Amino acid sequence: MRSSPLDLSPEQFRTLGHHLVDQLAELLREMPRGPVTTGAGLTDVRDALGRRGMPREGSDPRALLDHAIELLRAHNLYNGHPRFYGFITSSAAPIGALAELIAATVNQNVGGYLLSPMATEIEAQTMRWIAELLGMPEGSGGVLVSGGNMANMVAVWTARAQALGTGIRERGIRELPPLRLYASGETHTWVQKAADLSGIGTDAIRWIAPDDRQRMDTGALRDALERDRAAGDRPLAIIGTAGSVSTGAIDPLGELAAIAREHGVWFHVDGAYGAPAAILPDAPDDLKALREADSVAVDPHKWLYAPLEAGCVIVRHPEMLRDAFSYHPPYYPDAVEEPDPPIYYHEWSPQNSRGFRALKVWLALQQVGRSGYERMIAEDVALAKRMFEMAAAHDELEAATLGLSIATFRYVGPEDRDTRAQRLEELNVLNKAIMERMQSEGRAFLTNAVIDDTYLLRACIVNFRTGEEDVRAVIDEVVRVGRELSGIPVAAWVER
Ligand SMILES: *Cc1c(COP(=O)(O)O)cnc(C)c1O
Repeated sequence: MRSSPLDLSPEQFRTLGHHLVDQLAELLREMPRGPVTTGAGLTDVRDALGRRGMPREGSDPRALLDHAIELLRAHNLYNGHPRFYGFITSSAAPIGALAELIAATVNQNVGGYLLSPMATEIEAQTMRWIAELLGMPEGSGGVLVSGGNMANMVAVWTARAQALGTGIRERGIRELPPLRLYASGETHTWVQKAADLSGIGTDAIRWIAPDDRQRMDTGALRDALERDRAAGDRPLAIIGTAGSVSTGAIDPLGELAAIAREHGVWFHVDGAYGAPAAILPDAPDDLKALREADSVAVDPHKWLYAPLEAGCVIVRHPEMLRDAFSYHPPYYPDAVEEPDPPIYYHEWSPQNSRGFRALKVWLALQQVGRSGYERMIAEDVALAKRMFEMAAAHDELEAATLGLSIATFRYVGPEDRDTRAQRLEELNVLNKAIMERMQSEGRAFLTNAVIDDTYLLRACIVNFRTGEEDVRAVIDEVVRVGRELSGIPVAAWVER
């Protein structure tokens, strides 16, 4: 038998695997007690890694695995830490880590059914389940991609083929009137990449001003649509957001759906973050209305707590994905002739070879079921509300916004409320400094939002490890750092 330097015997694999899982279990046990991050500088990270070139000879795999874990343990930012509140990055379901080991071991190529029979069917089932969770109509389906950006882009490319006809794929867009996308000013930056990469250019985006709750102003949307149509432009899609990145704002999706229908325009919802909250029994109608969309992007690696990467797009008529992406070269097998044929996923997105992302999502969905997700998401929402209330109740803090599981607030100090407007610039600088200090100290990790020129501290809870004491800790920490940076003696703070 051929002996390869890269292969491991089943016995070696077993021994190494057990050793590895023991180390990872230890890492998971220690992580909540340690800092969110050690805050090491770039030089430290590079020094620890070393600058040597590609090794000429191989090394012992056990030593390599140990070294990899040690490097990552010592120089990490733990988004699964109970006091990580940054961006929109969730704690990862541990079953997802185990699923990744299975997925890599069976190494299915989910680009085509022939290469991955069970994995293909598991992905299709996962997509049906997510569609069902969101309340999308029977027959909806979709495809897993790397994340929200790709999911949203796949939706725009699909909308393009529907709005302009699939002939657009041969002709390109060069002889068309100006194409338009409609999105609120709070839309995530994916929309710029989508406009750019679909050839219509970022100038095609009509940025609709948000209202005073950061939601798309539907009056302004109607005006823009009418103006553009009168000028002979072609509206491609209306884009609603279900949970904006800055404040968790939800556009009035029901009304957007009605406007899209009136104008015969594709309606896409970016629910990368917020869509899973539609399963809550008390979800607002504006959010539940995402089921009226032609396409919805949702990130299992956010509020379904899958380890990175897992985004997906759910389409009301999934065969439209094929209209947008399918080619049939002679070196690929013919489709299976069946009444309900399997999906050839390479025809459903820009990707060709595809990993088995579905497994980690599929297993987590089953580990806790719909009721488990309802509970975890409801708890995240309640904790964000708690944080907002604590900020509102504190003399030295000012609560700003609360949307889904995102709370924003700022440190204002013990001074008079009336002076805050004049101190805007000073408070902006102070709050940025508070955030940076907290990020480097690693006791609790926040990021920021800017609303109407006001710099705010921002906490997003998509984390099944966060509890009430972690919420209280972040409030205490902001006040402590705020006082320290404003030169208020810590002793005075301790006495209070
Ligand atoms: C996170 C996010 C995105 C981008 O998703 P990625 O998974 O980071 O590519 C897009 N839109 C919204 C609303 C998001 O929260």
